[in-house]
Amino acid sequence: MAKPAPLIVVSGPSGAGKGTVVKRLLEMRPDVFVSVSATTRPARSGERHGTDYLFVSTQRFLAMRDRGEFLEWAEVYGNLYGTPRAPIETALSQGRTALAELDIQGAQATKRAKPDAVLVFIEPPSLEDLVLRLRGRGTEDAESLSRRVKASYEEVKAKGVYDHIVVNSVVETAAGELLRILEEQEKARR
Ligand code: 5GP
Repeated sequence: MAKPAPLIVVSGPSGAGKGTVVKRLLEMRPDVFVSVSATTRPARSGERHGTDYLFVSTQRFLAMRDRGEFLEWAEVYGNLYGTPRAPIETALSQGRTALAELDIQGAQATKRAKPDAVLVFIEPPSLEDLVLRLRGRGTEDAESLSRRVKASYEEVKAKGVYDHIVVNSVVETAAGELLRILEEQEKARR
């Protein structure tokens, strides 16, 4: 019998360009299911409920958590984030490759819950580059920026837990590498 479709977890410091790499991957592979996390973080301008995140109140988040609706959940930069379990299970059972963008705690928790999940770390060419990108994005206030930069140093130190490391200097190349990892997993499970 064919093994279930692969679950790919993508992590990386805030500002490493994860979102852009994943977006490019989806242009090449629109069939891949991307998990939409629930979060208590307020939406940034341009973010849409149901597409970028499910933006929920803390009360609602905790109720979802208590009902066991999350595959994993974590507090990141002072907000709660959780991965809804059911949509991922449905996608995998339909033979669709699934992808979730999670922080390192989420990646590790997912690996514990699903040992054959594949963890991919996307890193910027250098930490200096990351600070510049994060500043340039202009989405964070000074406190959040400094928190994210500190956490980035920790994440880069912990990258040893990942199965693959992709350096994002050129988006096209990084997305191509991510696609290769995904296809390798799909082939191995057929
Ligand atoms: P942001 O606030 O920039 O959208 O995301 C902050 C961090 O939370 C990123 O590292 C992102 O990958 C992570 N994240 C997003 N959704 C989840 C989730 O459902 N679970 C966990 N553990 N981390 C998440």
